[in-house]
Amino acid sequence: MKLPPLDYICPATLTEAIAALAAHGGNAKVIAGGQSLMPMLAFRLAAPSVLVDIGRLPDLKSISISAEGIDFGALVTWRDIERDARLAQAHPLLAAAIAHVAHYQVRNRGTVGGSMAHADPAAEMPGIAVTCDAMLTIVGSTGTRILSANEFITGGLSTVLEANEILTSIRLPLWKKARRWAFEEFARRRGDFALAGVAAFYDIDAQGLAYNAHIGVIGVADRPMRLPGVEAILDGRRIDADVILQAGAAARDAVDPADDIHAEAAYRRDLLGVLLERALARAADITLPEAA
Ligand SMILES: Cc1cc2nc3c(=O)[nH]c(=O)nc-3n(C[C@H](O)[C@H](O)[C@H](O)COP(=O)(O)OP(=O)(O)OC[C@H]3O[C@@H](n4cnc5c(N)ncnc54)[C@H](O)[C@@H]3O)c2cc1C
Repeated sequence: MKLPPLDYICPATLTEAIAALAAHGGNAKVIAGGQSLMPMLAFRLAAPSVLVDIGRLPDLKSISISAEGIDFGALVTWRDIERDARLAQAHPLLAAAIAHVAHYQVRNRGTVGGSMAHADPAAEMPGIAVTCDAMLTIVGSTGTRILSANEFITGGLSTVLEANEILTSIRLPLWKKARRWAFEEFARRRGDFALAGVAAFYDIDAQGLAYNAHIGVIGVADRPMRLPGVEAILDGRRIDADVILQAGAAARDAVDPADDIHAEAAYRRDLLGVLLERALARAADITLPEAA
């Protein structure tokens, strides 16, 4: 289907972009990479009268790593992340997750800010942001606010963003070098959205016990989320096959996915358990016993 008729504005500064959004009230929409918005326009799932293209705003394309954390400007693309050799070291969980996003053409245009703002429940970046306690900076005509990824996403394809606000950057806390981690997802074809996915990490104390467990899941609810009950099973334990199987069972119980055209709820729930067990086994570098 063709796009509906609309006006197009390409501001040169963030101030101009926010002014353009404010001037058109809820009738204007930000466009970044266009990889989610363009299909939505074509299918008439969104019908703004104005597009405000933020693609030329300065300063939103940088990736910086400092003692404060790892900062991504909203216009950083998947390809930028993939090509930044520092990130595989600085945040291996992010690098591993982003490797699953879409195909080359989409990766070349799609942005981290667009992915957060679109808030697809199966998308990798919002999942990593929630798992890793990312903080998001949002600028609007009434000022700047900084929110956690968990506060930012309010449901399926929905966030706290107001019509006159732009997400400008995402900060991930610095990654500890000795951390145990893994990312696992299952999609029908490489590059498709995940039917379910797990981002997992934990640290190890001097006794070899896990602490600071973070378990985030995608594709099994209307938004990415942590599984605190599973994290509690891991914290203070030596991660062996028994603990991993307990965690897998708890994960299956913790989620209540919906049936949809891609998979039945029971399938997604069991898939999540399997993916979590795989992730934890990989993180702990152990082999699980074969299922009977
Ligand atoms: C074929 C295909 C396969 C895909 N597969 C995957 C996948 O496996 N995993 C995955 O995670 N994603 C996937 N995607 C989505 C892709 O990653 C998108 O590019 C991304 O979700 C949105 O980024 P964008 O820059 O293209 O945003 P746009 O499409 O430009 O915008 C998306 C939404 O966010 C808003 N927005 C964008 N930027 C901002 C901002 N800075 N501040 C405020 N609002 C903003 C827009 O108004 C719009 O509502 C796929 C897309 C396609 C077309």
